[in-house]
Amino acid sequence: MGSQFSRNDFSFLKKYDRPGPRYTSYPTAPLFSSAFTAADFSEEIRATNAPGASEDISLYFHFPFCDTLCYFCGCTMLVTRDRFRIETYLSYLKREIALVAPVLAPDRKVVQVHWGGGTPTHLSPAQIRDTGGLIRSAFRLAPDAEMSVEIDPRELTREHLEALRSVGFNRMSMGVQDFNAQVQEAVNRVQPESLTSNVFSWAEELGFTSINVDLIYGLPFQTAHSFEETLRKVIDLSPARIAVFNYAHVPWMKPHQKLIHPEDLPTPEKKLDILQMTIELLCSNGYVYVGMDHFAKPDDELARAQREKTLYRNFQGYSTKSGADLYGFGMSSISHFQNIYAQNTKNLPDYYAALDEGQLATHVGYRMTPDDRIRKFVIMRLMCDLELDTTAVERLYGIRFDEHFARSLEALGQFVNDGLVQISPGTIRILGAGRLLLRNIAMCFDAYLDSMTTGKPVFSRTV
Ligand code: SF4
Repeated sequence: MGSQFSRNDFSFLKKYDRPGPRYTSYPTAPLFSSAFTAADFSEEIRATNAPGASEDISLYFHFPFCDTLCYFCGCTMLVTRDRFRIETYLSYLKREIALVAPVLAPDRKVVQVHWGGGTPTHLSPAQIRDTGGLIRSAFRLAPDAEMSVEIDPRELTREHLEALRSVGFNRMSMGVQDFNAQVQEAVNRVQPESLTSNVFSWAEELGFTSINVDLIYGLPFQTAHSFEETLRKVIDLSPARIAVFNYAHVPWMKPHQKLIHPEDLPTPEKKLDILQMTIELLCSNGYVYVGMDHFAKPDDELARAQREKTLYRNFQGYSTKSGADLYGFGMSSISHFQNIYAQNTKNLPDYYAALDEGQLATHVGYRMTPDDRIRKFVIMRLMCDLELDTTAVERLYGIRFDEHFARSLEALGQFVNDGLVQISPGTIRILGAGRLLLRNIAMCFDAYLDSMTTGKPVFSRTV
């Protein structure tokens, strides 16, 4: 693996550093519009569930509440310690489930459930049991459904994990970010190592089958040396997956990030040092670099799915459940199936008001064009497989690849010249360090990027 990143110096990446999407969807969320309404979404749900519909289903539930504010946070969240507020939210989540679940064709099975946030474990163990139980009774869950939850070790008890296991959760994603005390204080997320290792012990005792650890590089005061110490501690804990996200400092979109002092942030050069060290250290300690910030043990499903070309991308990042229709619940959640995307309002009063009227809380959405579907396929396969069978694209969509993507192929020229992409008859292949530029490579196939690059950037930087 190390040989795939044989460049001694990652400074060549700097020339590719620009704002760009992460392509958890195509087209990307800024294209979603209020012209797509809750009524449109309801109609689509019904149409998709005509008799005989048998696509698998993936469910996402958003729990926006957190105990304290992490200054780096990029999520849609609300800080509260008011238990009543959480109870109210759960009651509305139940109403939303009651609007959607009965419409789904009864033979459709749920293969994946994800609770994200915010902090799902800000719920009490009793609230976890209630909500999990309700989901189990409202939908038809496959016996081997993958059920994952985002965990914050700082406020977690063993009872929380017992409650999660009792309603079927078998995977967890744990926020760690950095073990260094100075970094933790600068971002207002003080999380002693003992808390994290406790959660690992409980998770193993209770039979969670896979643990993912989330880290962030580019935070205040980080150096390659300090982050290496964090990584070594994480490697000792031996999670199946490690995600190392690039901190996106976008205070014009997330005003609380102004609490992070820009002068404390590592320079772009230092960030590249950290990235290089991270990849080398994880790859030399038994992890496979899947791409886009994600590392997995070779026997983990994520790495296996990549080898078998069944990997997929959705709003949670990489997924092994390709083809499942995604239904999102809760404020800001996104649904995606067939040709449509639908996103709920990000505003709690509006979410409640819609449900009070017996309506879905769709705020924006998008109806894909035939060209969007082709481009989505191309971007997805490149980001997941790191190569693209262009003759398969021609067969599937009845196009001449070279003609349809003439501009994209031209834009790929610089990557080819830099030895990061190889184009040969029937195949586009991402080479070695090209893996670090998946977003930039995908951008070559995005038909809308030019129209979104005026004004303030809506995307984080790619490197
Ligand atoms: S716990 Fe997670 S969602 Fe909540 S503020 Fe911190 S990073 Fe954001």
